[in-house]
Amino acid sequence: MNKTKLELIKERALLNHVPIIMDDTLETIEKYMKNKKVDKILEIGTAVGYSAICFTKFLNLGGKIDTIERNTEMIKEAKENIKIISQDYKINIFEGDAVDILPNLNDKYDMIFIDAAKGKYPFFLEQALRLLNNDGIIFADNILYKGYVLSDYNKHKQRTAVNHLREYIKLVTENPKLDTEILDVGDGLAVTKIKF
Ligand code: SAH
Ligand code: MG
Repeated sequence: MNKTKLELIKERALLNHVPIIMDDTLETIEKYMKNKKVDKILEIGTAVGYSAICFTKFLNLGGKIDTIERNTEMIKEAKENIKIISQDYKINIFEGDAVDILPNLNDKYDMIFIDAAKGKYPFFLEQALRLLNNDGIIFADNILYKGYVLSDYNKHKQRTAVNHLREYIKLVTENPKLDTEILDVGDGLAVTKIKF
């Protein structure tokens, strides 16, 4: 059987050790997004565009995805991939560091996918909450970081990331205005909605 263009993009990403969204994480997000199409999605961490391309199926006609990436090699490949799939009119890449770009955004988004520097997750959350529509949803990938986040012992190398991910979990679970689930799918997924 012929592989689809999307399958080829995925295969190439995995071969090059690009940390694309895991299958069960994507399936979980698909369940949350079932029965509702949205107009605007924000993604922090494009890499080669794989997850952004997957998310286009959640969009209403005329809907758009803004995605942020700082690595120029990744941006180049993402642009190629997005063009191959003919989704370039739906996906806009903001080139640069999300820490600089996010504070300058003012659109409202229906879905926000946080999937970049783990040490910046608390900052990304603060910005995501500012940019989220009241009935929107925030997904944060890699929230359990290979199990390190729930483990007592962490190597020095991972400690800073782990502390920031734990802080993210604390912020989303202890804020009385938010409804959050921490799911053990893929590398861990936090799902947050604003309470009505
Ligand atoms: N969402 C992609 C995978 C993203 S991997 C997918 O599932 O297909 C994480 C990406 O975030 C990397 O490409 C990395 O370069 C980028 N990144 C990390 N920190 C960033 C930051 N502060 N600003 C912008 N991009 C960042
Ligand atoms: Mg990820």
